[in-house]
Amino acid sequence: MKTIRFCSFVVATMLLAVPLLGASTARAEVQLELWDGQRAMALIAEQLQFTPRSMGAPGHQQTVDFIKAALAKTSVDVVTTQDWSYRGDDGKPLALSNIVARFQPQNPRRMIVATHYDSIVKAYRDPKDPDAPMPGANNSASGVAVLLETARVLSLLPKLPIGIDMIFFDGEEGPKSLGAGDPDWKALGSPHFVDHLKDTYPTTKPEKAVVFDMVCAKNIQLKPEPSSLMSAMAEVKKFWGAGIGIAPGAFVTKTTTYPISDDHTALAEAGIPSFLVIDFDYEPWFNTTDDTLDKCDPRSLEAVGRTLTRYLTLP
Ligand SMILES: [Zn+2]
Repeated sequence: MKTIRFCSFVVATMLLAVPLLGASTARAEVQLELWDGQRAMALIAEQLQFTPRSMGAPGHQQTVDFIKAALAKTSVDVVTTQDWSYRGDDGKPLALSNIVARFQPQNPRRMIVATHYDSIVKAYRDPKDPDAPMPGANNSASGVAVLLETARVLSLLPKLPIGIDMIFFDGEEGPKSLGAGDPDWKALGSPHFVDHLKDTYPTTKPEKAVVFDMVCAKNIQLKPEPSSLMSAMAEVKKFWGAGIGIAPGAFVTKTTTYPISDDHTALAEAGIPSFLVIDFDYEPWFNTTDDTLDKCDPRSLEAVGRTLTRYLTLP
């Protein structure tokens, strides 16, 4: 993901416009404790074995296989991959795959729950070893773990009124440097998905989308992000309202001071109300060799995963 400085007037306006819902939102009876932070930690640990997981690396395909194998153990109905080749500036083709896992594909009402599974190629911000392979426990294995554990839990719960499409995007870290500090960064997987939206949604666009990135850190602090409020303010309020009820210390109502570009950006630009759930304050470990499992906390993962589960069951 990448930060973009934004007009302070717009940010100030949005700060005023965020009286978030309290915890009293109507609740379906859902066994939230089914969502297990230790299982999510194990899912992160498994992905770290494949490092580096950047495009073109053997660990990239191993990650795809791992996600598909984990999904096969759930009640997800259909898993497809959207495969294409991207030719970068150096002319070298990169093979990319978005993974799409659909629950209740016959349900005309659709919602996207997404993350990215590619990791940056090297820990370029590491003060000691900037060429070392990037472990990426928080960026990017944590988002994959949240989706996979949620897929397992959804398989144990009554059917939702809306069909969920889980999307594991490829290429979020961009082509040129494979995430290693390219100033002209752009995501690849989510814009490709949007360019081929009719492959997945031939008639009607999904109603909304939520994207997870960097969601395992200890003492997680999740703030609404300004571009998400622009795109999907009602959904952000709903999600944070649920989160404050479940894990009050993890959900902060003050917005981040600048917008963050991530896979929700392309979805929002395609007219799908979309928002990002991220704890972007991850110093001094962000994109260093210290982005490792010991920086993650099962309680943070549970705060996010149980909130997502609750949110999906809300009317
Ligand atoms: Zn990321």
